[in-house]
Amino acid sequence: MNDNNGTLKKEIIGLGLVSGGLDSLIACLLIQQQGIKVIGLNFTSPFCQYNKESSQEECKLDLFQEKLGIDIYYLPLGDDYFEILQNPKFGYGKHINPCIDCRIYILKKAKEFMKKVDATLIFTGEVLDQRPKSQHLKALKIVEKESDLEGKLLRPLSAHHLKPTIYEQEGLIDRKKLLGIRGRSRKIQMKLAREHKLLENYYACGGCLLTDENFANRLRDAFKFNTKLSIEDIPILRTGRHFRYKETKIIVGRNENENNLLLTLKSPDDLAMEAIGIPGPITIIQGDYNDDSLNYAAKLTLRYSDLNQLQGKVKFGTNYSELSNENEMTVEINNADILKNFRL
Ligand code: SF4
Repeated sequence: MNDNNGTLKKEIIGLGLVSGGLDSLIACLLIQQQGIKVIGLNFTSPFCQYNKESSQEECKLDLFQEKLGIDIYYLPLGDDYFEILQNPKFGYGKHINPCIDCRIYILKKAKEFMKKVDATLIFTGEVLDQRPKSQHLKALKIVEKESDLEGKLLRPLSAHHLKPTIYEQEGLIDRKKLLGIRGRSRKIQMKLAREHKLLENYYACGGCLLTDENFANRLRDAFKFNTKLSIEDIPILRTGRHFRYKETKIIVGRNENENNLLLTLKSPDDLAMEAIGIPGPITIIQGDYNDDSLNYAAKLTLRYSDLNQLQGKVKFGTNYSELSNENEMTVEINNADILKNFRL
């Protein structure tokens, strides 16, 4: 790009953190409207319930490309995310969501990424007070400071409630064209989305599993029993019914899809178990096990099978495709006792 004197002028690039939601979409629009090229950065996370293939218009990151012509880069959360997950400096939200530390982690990575795409500025779709615990003024300031972005993190949707960033002070961004949204309502964002033909309807989508009570229980249990937990261990935590029986973890598929998925997610040392002679779930057995815990896993397997009597048989082994009746056991089931206390 040339300026009036014919000298080459560096293109200004804004790196936007995009979740696929309405707020980040409008933040990108506002920056584009200032004549700035926008590049999107999305962090892929096994804790995110956002589905890239979702049919819901709102949930499509593709929309950023289709409607605004924005290229999206994807970065996965690393195993270093577990350090903050287990010991967040700024604590948890309601469940096991370390939101303030999580934002700091993401922004630090995004700041490094700016160099790769030669971005001049960085912005997010955060809205002041939209989330009472992690998006209040103090939290926004902490996030900025800890990610070493003080005065350099643009939040276009709530800019009028915040101190001008360096980009506004230097005239790179016209503050008057930014917004002063505060709180949970998305009326203004939706109005803009319709005006610019980006979206007709708003669907809240996905969400973060770390804010889910049941998932939080599973994850705490996994931290307690598996000191080497890594990002690869998360998908199985999302799948099936989970039970903790002493040192043994038992996971029971809820349908055919989950049964197949469990078999692909199990590690080579995990046992697979299924009922003999009747349709039923795949059960995965992890950790230390003995006759007592195998007996309990067998009861669970039969409890969720089509068994219509009080006694049944299961077979088990580490290699599902070679399960034979050599490793089998017969157990009696008593529905009243089976689920007691052990469900995660
Ligand atoms: S809700 Fe989940 S993804 Fe969002 S900031 Fe909190 S921990 Fe991070």
